[in-house]
Amino acid sequence: MVMKKNCSSDGNITTLFGSNVFNDAVMKERLPKSTYKALKKTIDEGAPLDPSIADIVANAMKDWAIEKGATHFTHWFQPMTGVTAEKHDSFISPTPDGKVIMEFSGKELIKGEPDASSFPSGGLRATFEARGYTAWDCTSPAFLKEDAAGVTLFIPTAFCSYTGEALDQKTPLLRSMEALSKQAIRILRLFGNTTAKTVISTVGPEQEYFLIDKAFYEKRKDLVLTGRTLFGSKPPKGQELEDHYFGSIKERISEYMKELDTELWKLGVTAKTKHNEVAPAQYELAPIFATTNVATDHNQLTMDLMRKIAARHGLTCLLHEKPFAGVNGSGKHNNWSIAADDGDNLLSPGSTPHDNTRFLLFLCAVIKAVDEYAELLRVSAANPGNDHRLGANEAPPAIISMFLGDQLTDIMDQLSNGGATSSKEGGILEIGVSTLPPLPKDSTDRNRTSPFAFTGNKFEFRMVASSASIALPNIVLNTIVAEVLSQIADRLEGAADFNGEIKKILKEVAVNNKRIIFNGNGYSDEWVAEAEKRGLPNIKSTVAAISALISEKAKIFEKHGVLSHKELESRYEIALEGYIKQINIEALTMLDMAKRQILPASIDYSTVLASNINTIKKALPAADVSAQEGLLKELTDTIGSFNKYIAVLEKTVEEAQELEGDTLKAAKFYRDGVFKDMGVLRTYGDKLETIVDSKLWPLPTYSDMLFLF
Ligand code: ADP
Ligand code: MG
Repeated sequence: MVMKKNCSSDGNITTLFGSNVFNDAVMKERLPKSTYKALKKTIDEGAPLDPSIADIVANAMKDWAIEKGATHFTHWFQPMTGVTAEKHDSFISPTPDGKVIMEFSGKELIKGEPDASSFPSGGLRATFEARGYTAWDCTSPAFLKEDAAGVTLFIPTAFCSYTGEALDQKTPLLRSMEALSKQAIRILRLFGNTTAKTVISTVGPEQEYFLIDKAFYEKRKDLVLTGRTLFGSKPPKGQELEDHYFGSIKERISEYMKELDTELWKLGVTAKTKHNEVAPAQYELAPIFATTNVATDHNQLTMDLMRKIAARHGLTCLLHEKPFAGVNGSGKHNNWSIAADDGDNLLSPGSTPHDNTRFLLFLCAVIKAVDEYAELLRVSAANPGNDHRLGANEAPPAIISMFLGDQLTDIMDQLSNGGATSSKEGGILEIGVSTLPPLPKDSTDRNRTSPFAFTGNKFEFRMVASSASIALPNIVLNTIVAEVLSQIADRLEGAADFNGEIKKILKEVAVNNKRIIFNGNGYSDEWVAEAEKRGLPNIKSTVAAISALISEKAKIFEKHGVLSHKELESRYEIALEGYIKQINIEALTMLDMAKRQILPASIDYSTVLASNINTIKKALPAADVSAQEGLLKELTDTIGSFNKYIAVLEKTVEEAQELEGDTLKAAKFYRDGVFKDMGVLRTYGDKLETIVDSKLWPLPTYSDMLFLF
């Protein structure tokens, strides 16, 4: 019985997968051959989209969607809020006889006009010019989303202003992919590849998240309004037993994960791996990699579904980088590589990387790019949530360094001495049990502490913020590598001695950019000191990181047509404003909880204690009530300090709010004033939690939330 059920469910998965996607197979089946061909040319080779095919595609899309129950369509876009936006229109179109038909024109497919005035633009769009446009991105397939309210056709789009400036994440991402492709193709041509039409960057983002019981979540204003706990003392049990990581998954969680997988598969998201993460109540989901654009869209869908499906299971999904202080936070591991359009991975070393010149050249391009543009990578991972991880003595460190492993580090050493002649081998793993199969050993161990690690045939950028879109990290990666590749191509195309020039380039990188390579423990204090000696930037906060967006180095975005100066300035403003708003909300939420929840509960308990003491004294005048009195004294003292810091924080917030106009100055004040005072207020609040009777405590505790379900 059970076997049979499993078999049929396997069969179901293959039909289920992508069933809500207007994918290649559906297009092939439903579009006239010439339309299909023209569209494919745009999707696969980046050829300009022929607008005349839009009507045909729109009609096929509509028929397909309606057959599957859709009543509405929406242009789906990614404004700079970090989340996606959608505005639904129905397919209905009135007829003269008072009825309606279902229509969807090419014009509606290609272009939308949402009011742009309420999305962040960082000054790009004056308020009188509210016009914004969404443009169909045919390189990411349209899909259907179903929920209790019905079925809607989602069309991935780019979002720009009336004057053509990008107001979203997707537009510069697509531009960066084109820039990388253009430069990488130049290199491939030099190596005799005459057939590749594009080079794509591929991404597999591993997504970490927390799940807690919804009932607890709803009782915590801080989680509801800010995504993280602003108070909460450490639970007696943390993650020291290391029993959660890869531990057996609880039934309630696995039911959630199962539904999440199913819904993602329907949308063509290749959800592949799921497991418990290091912290209690923390989990991870990893898809199989896709082109960067699709991977970015899919990551947004994944985050969206993670939240929605959690609610159906009485759970809440927390995507914040640091929902619980003192407990491991969440990140995203952005696995990134580049491949020719035939799938040939350009970062695949082969078995003897030392004589794989093309690989070494691409590898060195990435090394140089990461070293020389570390500040740009750093800002791509910066947000207020990630400030609790990066640079806060936690994983990963704020210093960008690169893990290469023994084999490649050895080759880089050889290159710096003139040329590489050998590759260290992995060999066979000795387990010492003859019945176990011999396992070939990887040529390199793993390193979990590196923010940027080579992992076999790809790089893993591990700083990325768990709640943010992966667009910016990949825009930066694509652009910095495009820039270095363009420098290399310039030299090689003009070289009299091609091989000699390559040798020179490899040696230069091995010598000049060696400082970025670090295979040791990235969490250690020694590394911080060593990195400083090497001159590597250690940018500890979001506010400090943001200026990279308008720095000299950011000019490469303009050079490669990824972001104009105006667009960079707008992103700089949006990032600063976002920081200010977030800390302001956190501070106000904290004050509200302090004054209306923690303080009253603490005062109540002090009254209970005081009347207990009086009652005992009355009943038994000789009784020793020193314990109760000591407790009462500690409690009232702490209440006093807590109350004092409420006033301090209130004043600092007021001061901060007056700093309008100069966003940089205000952001700095929020970081150095408001955020700091919040930390002090928290220590007193958390102390109160350890004193006050748990029956009177108004908030679910860390133990409740992390262990009790
Ligand atoms: P690891 O165990 O080293 O983290 P996995 O094989 O589990 O590696 O892969 C982690 C993620 O990296 C997955 O999402 C996977 O699809 C992705 N990945 C694998 N190869 C590539 C590649 N060439 N480009 C981008 N991502 C990749
Ligand atoms: Mg990994």
